[in-house]
Parts: sequence; structure tokens; C-alpha cells
Amino acid sequence: MPLINVDESLKRLLTATHTLESELTPLAEIGEAQVLAQDVIAELTEPPFRSSAMDGYAIRYQDYEQNREFDLVGESAAGKGYSGKIGKNEAVRIFTGAPVPDDADTVIIQEDAKLEGNRVSFTKAPEAGANIRPRGGNFQKGDSVLEKGRIMTPSALALCASTGHGAVEVVKRPKIAILATGNELVEAGEIPGKDQIVCSNSYGLAYLVRAHHCDVVDLGIARDNEESIREKIERARKEKVDLLVTSGGVSVGKYDLVQTVLKSEGMKLDFWKVAMRPGKPLMFGVLPDDHKMLVLGLPGNPVSSMVCGHIFLVPILEKLSGRNYRPHIEDALLAVPLPENGPRRHFVRANLTVNSKGERWVTPVRSQDSSLIRLMANADCLIIREENGTPLQVGEPCRIFIPEGAGL
Ligand code: AMP
Ligand code: MG
Repeated sequence: MPLINVDESLKRLLTATHTLESELTPLAEIGEAQVLAQDVIAELTEPPFRSSAMDGYAIRYQDYEQNREFDLVGESAAGKGYSGKIGKNEAVRIFTGAPVPDDADTVIIQEDAKLEGNRVSFTKAPEAGANIRPRGGNFQKGDSVLEKGRIMTPSALALCASTGHGAVEVVKRPKIAILATGNELVEAGEIPGKDQIVCSNSYGLAYLVRAHHCDVVDLGIARDNEESIREKIERARKEKVDLLVTSGGVSVGKYDLVQTVLKSEGMKLDFWKVAMRPGKPLMFGVLPDDHKMLVLGLPGNPVSSMVCGHIFLVPILEKLSGRNYRPHIEDALLAVPLPENGPRRHFVRANLTVNSKGERWVTPVRSQDSSLIRLMANADCLIIREENGTPLQVGEPCRIFIPEGAGL
């Protein structure tokens, strides 16, 4: 298979990825950044009655103009209004959120009132109609208050509740399986034995998946043999994950068996090997079961695995979730010269500083070796060196990718 370029591979990957179906979900179960899959129409009017905005006294304004002393005739509290009448020079004690009695048209705040026995007098002139929230001032029954396709937020969820909905249609949260492969790997926290190293990729990838509001199914580590990898794929199928992300074992070595096993399990390979650095052996395919499972095979080297996570995994997660994703790309000035670039797009790990003039300068980290996760963890961005880019001098502009939310 010939190398395909980054843009083409992204296009293919997004063509094969479909937004998940939506389901009616109780409000309490809706998670961060889920996408609304229906217009929300108010089933209630809010407030349902004229309500008091303050603690105070409800009166008829016309009475105040002639008189500053009133008889207190009752009380209207939140949840239990005053059902009587208000006559001339009469006031009702009222609290925030309580229904304003029909005859009253003004609420005078309690700070401007003096109560003596059953008589209340006012020290400051109110404005006619003050401190009353009109019926339906928030929304009226039948109003369309939220549009299909928008991302839920805390206040949008609160609005769904107040408009009378206990559940709304949202796009399902994607379920993503993460699988490390390698005979040499042990889990984080374990002490590596002879010839072993700690698996780091799965932890970084799981963080990235969670940061993009998807659920993680951790499949642990598969060994470099067909049975072990097959068993993990079976588990991913059983769990009905939407996407299986593997790391390692997708190159051309004797122990790189991920693709072979996936194919024997029915995977249709979409592409393998992308013209990029780091990350050339990237693989993408689809297992067309009842529950279609996408497969993204990431390279094993920790930096390659994370760079490919940002460039390829994130767009899949966002599309599955129904969100419109655009990578965050900005301009910056180069602090050191860069040589010409070869035919593979290069994502150069770099640090970004802003000087006192507000100029943004980038400096590549000291080595671009794809195993040096320490340098990646302390980098801020990736300089995007286009395929066959010409040499760049100090001070020349370049494009940088800044990951959203999670950091590199
Ligand atoms: P591979 O693509 O399987 O040949 O792996 C390439 C390099 O990445 C090797 O040095 C592996 O030891 C390393 N590697 C593979 N998987 C992981 C992992 N999950 N965590 C850390 N390093 C890994
Ligand atoms: Mg390996």
C-alpha cells in the first residue's frame, strides 16, 4: 500500500465515521458536551404567574400616591400565594418567587418599609410596577428555546428542566476501547522485569478520550501473538465499542501482528501508512459487524502514538459525538531556522512563548525522536511542516497546532 497524505487520510477517516444515534436521556444522566438531537420546545410557561422579584410588600401603586401607610392583610410566600383580595390602602407581605396577588401591581422592598403591628409604612417612593416579574417573562409554552445540534452546557440543561422536560434526545456518548500491544510491556505502577518497559501510551490515550467526553474501555495489554490479540478484539466486540484504538504492533516487524489478526477477524482496511512524521505506520479500518466498530491502529512509539491521537483520534471522537471539530491552528514566528522538509508532513514538537510585544515565537524541542515522551510532555504545540516545505529562517511565520482542552 502506498503512503497516503495526512489530508487524504483524514478525509477517508471522517467519511467512514458517522455520528452515533441519539437516545432519549434523563437529564441527570446527560454528560458534559453531549449534543442535543432535538429542538427543545417549552411545555410550560415560566414564570407561570406574575412573581415577586424581591422580599417586600405588594400594594396597588395608585394607593401609594395618596397614602404611605397601609394595613397588612396577608402573606404570599413561594409555593403558597395569597388568595384574598387587596383593597384600598392594603398591603400583602410577599417573598421572592411568590405569586403577586391579582389586585397588586407594585412590590416595595422590605428595606424601604417599616412594620408596626399590622400597619406598614414606606420610607421611599417605589416605581409603579416595580419588582414584579411578568408571567412568561422567561419563556412561554410553545417557545422553541434550544436548537437541535447545539452542545449541552450547564445552563442549557437547567433550561431543559425548567421548560418541563425530564429527558431529552442527545447523541450517545461514544465508547472507545484502548489496547496496548507488546511482549515488553507492563502496566503503570508495576516494576518492569528484564527487557521490559512500562506501557505509557494507553494512559495518555485514555486521557485524551476522556478529555473529548467519550467513555473508555481499557483492554489492557495484548501480547505479540495472534491468540492474545484475537481475545482482546473479541472483548471489544462484546463491549460493543464504537472504536478500537490500538498502539504498537502495526509496523512491518515480525511481531507486528495487529493488522493480520484484525483482517482475519473481518476488518476492512481503509488505509495503512501515512506520509507523516512521526506516525508513518498508522492504520485505519472498519469491522463491519452488527455493531460497526472502527479501528485506529496507532504506532507504538509514545510520541507517535500521542501525536496521532491528536491528529486522527480526536476528529473521530468529535464526529462520533456529533460535534463540529476544527483543529486549533494559529500562526507563530520561528525562533530558530528549520531545514527543508521531505515528502512527509512533519509535526514538530515545540515550545511557544509570547514576548512583551505580544509576538508569539516557537522553538522546536531539542530532539524530535519519537520515543522521547518527556520532551512531548513539556512541549506546548506542534509546528506543522508541510510536505516538501522550503527551508525557513528565523522570524518567518509558521503554522502551529495547539491542542484544545487536554494539552499535548
Ligand atoms: P512497535 O510499533 O510495537 O514496534 O513499538 C514501537 C516502539 O514503541 C517500541 O520501542 C515499543 O517498546 C514502544 N511501545 C509500544 N507500545 C508501547 C506502549 N503502550 N507504551 C510505551 N511504549 C510502547
Ligand atoms: Mg510492539
